[in-house]
Amino acid sequence: MNRFNVRKVAVLGAGVMGAQIAAHLVNVRVPVVLFDLAARDGSMNAIVTKAIEGLKKLKPAPLGIPEDAALLQAANYDEHLALLAECDLVIEAIAERMDWKLDLYRKIAPHVAPHAIVASNTSGLSITKLADAVPDAIKPRFCGIHFFNPPRYMALVELIATPSTDAAVLDQLEAFVTSTLGKSVVRAMDTPNFIANRVGIAGMLATMKEAETYGLTYDVVDDLTGKKLGRASSGTFRTADVVGLDTMAHVIKTLQDNLQDDPFFPSYATPAVLSALIAKGALGQKSGAGFFKKVGRDILRLDPAKGDYVAGGGKADEIVARMLKKPAAERLKLLHDSTNPQAQFLWAILRDGFHYAAVHLADIAETARDIDFAMRWGFGMSQGPFELWQAAGWKQVAQWVKEDIDAGKALSKAPLPAWVFDGRDGVHAPEGSWSASAGKYLPQRDLPVYQRQYFREDVQGAGAAAPLASGTELFRNDELRAWTLDGEVVIASITAKLHLISPLVVEGLQAALEIAERDHQALVIWSPDDVFSAGANLEALMPVFMKSGAKGIAPEIKKFQDFMLRLRYAQVPVVSAVRGIALGGGCELAAYSARRVAAMESYMGLVEVGVGLVPGAGGLTYIARRAAEMAAAGNANADIQKFLIDGFTNAAMAKVGTSAIESRKLGYLLEGDIIVPHKDELLFVAIQQARAMAESLWRAPQRKPFAVAGRNSIATIKGQLVNMRDGGFVSAHDFHIASLIADVVCGGDVDAGSLVTEEYLMALERKHFCALLEHPKTQERIMGMLSTGKPVRN
Ligand code: NAD
Repeated sequence: MNRFNVRKVAVLGAGVMGAQIAAHLVNVRVPVVLFDLAARDGSMNAIVTKAIEGLKKLKPAPLGIPEDAALLQAANYDEHLALLAECDLVIEAIAERMDWKLDLYRKIAPHVAPHAIVASNTSGLSITKLADAVPDAIKPRFCGIHFFNPPRYMALVELIATPSTDAAVLDQLEAFVTSTLGKSVVRAMDTPNFIANRVGIAGMLATMKEAETYGLTYDVVDDLTGKKLGRASSGTFRTADVVGLDTMAHVIKTLQDNLQDDPFFPSYATPAVLSALIAKGALGQKSGAGFFKKVGRDILRLDPAKGDYVAGGGKADEIVARMLKKPAAERLKLLHDSTNPQAQFLWAILRDGFHYAAVHLADIAETARDIDFAMRWGFGMSQGPFELWQAAGWKQVAQWVKEDIDAGKALSKAPLPAWVFDGRDGVHAPEGSWSASAGKYLPQRDLPVYQRQYFREDVQGAGAAAPLASGTELFRNDELRAWTLDGEVVIASITAKLHLISPLVVEGLQAALEIAERDHQALVIWSPDDVFSAGANLEALMPVFMKSGAKGIAPEIKKFQDFMLRLRYAQVPVVSAVRGIALGGGCELAAYSARRVAAMESYMGLVEVGVGLVPGAGGLTYIARRAAEMAAAGNANADIQKFLIDGFTNAAMAKVGTSAIESRKLGYLLEGDIIVPHKDELLFVAIQQARAMAESLWRAPQRKPFAVAGRNSIATIKGQLVNMRDGGFVSAHDFHIASLIADVVCGGDVDAGSLVTEEYLMALERKHFCALLEHPKTQERIMGMLSTGKPVRN
């Protein structure tokens, strides 16, 4: 098969979805042209340019950095259709009207490149009906590509084929969506609302109905159906508010219009409260009110009886919260048997979910896995309905669901399908997941792109290999595992909570490095979960501090610093595979590695100021060295201070990148580092990098002194800090810490251009770090952080 080379993508429609999909394409560095209707007055691109401006302000941010909005090419259908010829993929995301979409397809058809894939982001229209309107030549390359809002953050993309879609085309698109866009693909059948919205919205409607039956308020329902139930923290009603009540009503209408024969049809009725809210213009978050309303700092909830908002914040009963912490089988039995209305409510919505998924499996999804994945990736659940059912004991749960259906308690009288009772213990097994339509178990799609995911996500019950129990273990301690997959690259996985770096972690990293240098080619620092490292483990240093004060801490800090240099000047390349937060010591660990590969969602920063400290494991030394290198690269006499200011400011203000792209802008990732869109490809890319570096005979940089900005720059920076302090922008303690940061990054009390070593600067870092530890305001910050997890401002 020829490589599917996407030189450029056209996105048609610059509304909520189109603009954000285009933004995400910019994030992953795919050139994109964004179309909308020509404006009647002013610039013909006005509609698109307004949408592009809007992207800079939208929350959560669709762009890695707002200034990247400039990379979006704006276009309109009256002037720029010829641009389509350069596009290898066209994503249509215009308003949800069949006639409008068909009109547009007719308009673009003559301009689309002969090989280009054309895909619609429709949520509710039939892809097959849309395909009927495209010219025959495009039909094999036409399909559905259903993103979830917000597309940068939601993992799921449903791909939908029509009977005439070329199978190879869909495989190519799946590879692109996975590797380049970093999304997780579920193939859906062309049925109303596809999989995730079909099952998800039916579940939300069931939840609303059962909430009414059991007389529960919206705040309590959200507490019960959020994190405690292993679902998105916004629960049910707040999720509806975030999605938009009009959007939700639209999805519901698709169910009503298309599914008259569905045995659950009566449960698709629009809840009266939803209609009433929409009629009032209360559309949820975007209009400031929905099921909830934020007034000042308070979140009020709607009281439907009063038709007004009242105090919210209601929580689950403690006894029910405790039930939810039990293992699946015990949990479901407790909920099923309980007389507590909240527990009964939870059993009811879980039962409705099992019932719905089982009855519809054959029609809407190829396998049970697709439904479970769709609910994980599209609705933020930690497990889908079939996974939970299987984990809780298939036969027992099936029996309870059947009893409720027979007793008329369920949402539909439709019996569970016969396959549920064929003696099975579940739908997920090592050989694959149950396909009700094919009557057999089917494995995951085996496309070459998935070879890039060493530990491909799978459903519970499928027996997928756990990374930390895989490969060949080289050694482990209580907070780190060193292992290898290929015998060439050592992988160090920090297993401590939040991957906090304690002396034991440093010891483990050092041992892993020694093993790599002795017997292997390279070291990769990677862990299977969603955090690189939250920083140094201050709690682990507490006992030493209590016993011997800052003096006792200094040698411990020196060990951290020595290790950072050990890493930088290692005999093998070290690659840090960053994902999620890399803060403080975590950021320093990455910075002292030879290279970084970072998932798109990586948040890096030197945040020590938040706990009243200066970065102490080489972070400031890194900033000073980078400034010297940048100054030297441009011009031998360049002013180092100019290159220092950004790094200084980022550390002094504890700035954290809100994406890998911004982390790079802050200087914590470098040009040669690699941003990986799909988190599950991170290990693959890291190992490839490490091997390539080893094969190209990578050598550590040479140790050499570098020039610093010196005392005059300290004075200049301090002058500005004084203004900030006197203007009330920063506290006296912030001023003090920032001055110490300036002292280190400028090299202390020396002339401009003096040459210093990393060890010298690290000694300065250490001195200030230890002095601050003795400072009462710093101690207040540390104690506050350790006890509440939140920064203290003092
Ligand atoms: P939107 O209303 O925000 O944007 C629609 C865009 O279509 C507007 O920019 C508008 O100028 C343009 N448009 C309107 N009439 C047009 C016409 N006749 N010809 C060409 N362009 C026209 O809509 P949206 O929420 O972004 O939805 C777009 C598509 O994405 C729909 O098919 C929708 O079902 C689907 N979708 C929406 C969501 C969501 O949460 N909003 C999620 C997934 C998929």
